Amino acid sequence: MARRRQLYEGKAKILFEGPEPGSIVQYFKDDATAGNGAKKGIITGKGVLNNRISEHLMLRLQAIGIPTHFMKRINMREQLVREVEIIPLEIVVRNVAAGSIASRLGLEEGTRLPRTIIEYYLKNDALNDPMVSEEHIAAFEWATPQDMEEINSHALRINDFLCGTFQAIGIQLVDFKLEFGRLWEQDEMRVVLADEISPDNCRLWDMNTSEKLDKDRFRRDLGRVEEAYQEVARRLGILPESGNHEIKGSEG
Ligand code: 5GP
Repeated sequence: MARRRQLYEGKAKILFEGPEPGSIVQYFKDDATAGNGAKKGIITGKGVLNNRISEHLMLRLQAIGIPTHFMKRINMREQLVREVEIIPLEIVVRNVAAGSIASRLGLEEGTRLPRTIIEYYLKNDALNDPMVSEEHIAAFEWATPQDMEEINSHALRINDFLCGTFQAIGIQLVDFKLEFGRLWEQDEMRVVLADEISPDNCRLWDMNTSEKLDKDRFRRDLGRVEEAYQEVARRLGILPESGNHEIKGSEG
């Protein structure tokens, strides 16, 4: 493939200019980081699996009417997405206490929360993505109240859908992080789901054994990281059932 212009390199993905105006190629790397880059590593095959898992989930979310940036998967590591103006917020949806909410509020990991909780973090590596409130978001105009209404409503629908999807394959969706962007079509603006949904930004626990099937295996040095991502893909029907872990589908 001809060299394309690189637009941005993040911790887990590279963005290239797409083949048509308003499109972007999202390349999934095997690189893994934790603690805002303090810990670095490679999870072999992660990019290929996340490309497939995210494609699978984005297509299913589109089918229930959630607007997303996803256009199509191009090959093993790349997908074509719509260029959006990223809203500089990380939207975290939590069903069960784990990670930062557990330490912040002194909750035991695994405790079901009294209700689903949405939190907002400012996307700012230099500040370690600080948690912010809707007051901050409105005051600093990171998003409008109308954007936030759409974000909150999409986030809750995505949570309902993903909880059901994962429950059906014996996985508890503990929490996850979403990003949204503004998509302009003529004079109309829509808020759409962007980035990716994968074990990199979800906490996924086996419902029977409580085994972690997500990036916490890397963050907490639990080992068998690739195997956990493969297991999620296998249960979603993306990887063949047994032995051979080759991904279905060709490079092209
Ligand atoms: P926590 O705030 O407990 O660290 O994370 C909550 C959820 O959001 C977890 O599922 C975690 O994977 C996801 N998350 C939060 N911040 C980030 C981030 O900067 N990168 C990624 N990949 N996931 C994040």
